[in-house]
Amino acid sequence: MKKEDSEFNPLALEHDEEEVQLRRDLRPKTFLEYIGQKQIVEMLSIAVEAAKKRGEVLDHVLLYGPPGLGKTTLAHIIAHEMEMPLIHTSGPALEKGGDLLSILTHMENGNVLFIDEIHRLPKVVEEFLYPAMEDFAVDIIFDKGMNARSYRSKLEPFTLVGATTRAGLLSAPLRERFGIFCSLDFYSEKDVEKVILRSAVILDIAIDKEGAQEIARRARGTPRIANRLLRRIRDYAQVRAEGVITRKVADDALALEGIDELGLTSLDKRFLNVIIQFYKGGPVGLEAIAATLQEEPDTLVDMVEPFLLKAGFLARTSSGRKATELAYKHLQIPSHKAGKQMELPKI
Ligand code: ADP
Repeated sequence: MKKEDSEFNPLALEHDEEEVQLRRDLRPKTFLEYIGQKQIVEMLSIAVEAAKKRGEVLDHVLLYGPPGLGKTTLAHIIAHEMEMPLIHTSGPALEKGGDLLSILTHMENGNVLFIDEIHRLPKVVEEFLYPAMEDFAVDIIFDKGMNARSYRSKLEPFTLVGATTRAGLLSAPLRERFGIFCSLDFYSEKDVEKVILRSAVILDIAIDKEGAQEIARRARGTPRIANRLLRRIRDYAQVRAEGVITRKVADDALALEGIDELGLTSLDKRFLNVIIQFYKGGPVGLEAIAATLQEEPDTLVDMVEPFLLKAGFLARTSSGRKATELAYKHLQIPSHKAGKQMELPKI
């Protein structure tokens, strides 16, 4: 089966300057502006207020959950509410211990260090972090073998905010050094609708309530997807309609993007189809699905599986992934037909 080059990936990050600026404009800056995730926001705002009252740094925070749910946004808010600058880096950007060391030694008292994709931190760098997180110190090793000596250098107290889509991949020693754990879940349709209406005001997009509801229903509980769909539909509304996003305009534009009535993209549907048609509904290993789809397993674990699991289309068992009854129903495949078709239908 051929992968389509033009496939719309609503979670993909774009890196051109306009896109980066837009993302900055849409990002809530305070706890008050942050929509949904009530329990997390309350927990964090209490911790921030208490740390400020005591004049101490905030405990290290680990944020985990699927992409696009607002982890980076929360990291920025934490720094803003602590009235501290945020230093932003990521696991893959820190290749050597020295990369982290130069960041840590330049930080001032109370600064917030945000490490995105912290599960991708190389082991040598991770080991540097242990004393830094626990004792605000780094151990610098001179020489090798018999002559090796270590020298402990003090750091200014700081808060580490780590974000990951895969808390399970974090080593136990790293996990244990965080004091505050926040597990972000998909947003309710109501909350996604609020995200859409807020973004529409900021971007000066005309939209009615039904239009916002329609996008919310199909944004897979994810603010990043909601914002991207909103901008795609705005283009459609300007060119094909009167400029206002109504339910009909949203519906037509989303159909054009290949996003179905429950928000499934063509990749989601191909994923389920592979399990049903190639592997008789499963259980089947992720590697086999990825090879058939010509996709990276990591992409599927991060971008596709969380929502399919949440929405009840997919089950993960000890022997592999299985399509649920709901998936057969949604794709309109009778269960006795599973595995009967070797050519996958194009969706
Ligand atoms: P993550 O780091 O989890 O991948 P981001 O923090 O980059 O997600 O969020 C993606 C986008 O979604 C942000 O640019 C922001 O505009 C929007 N967003 C995320 N969470 C919220 C929220 N709670 N309220 C409003 N907008 C949000």
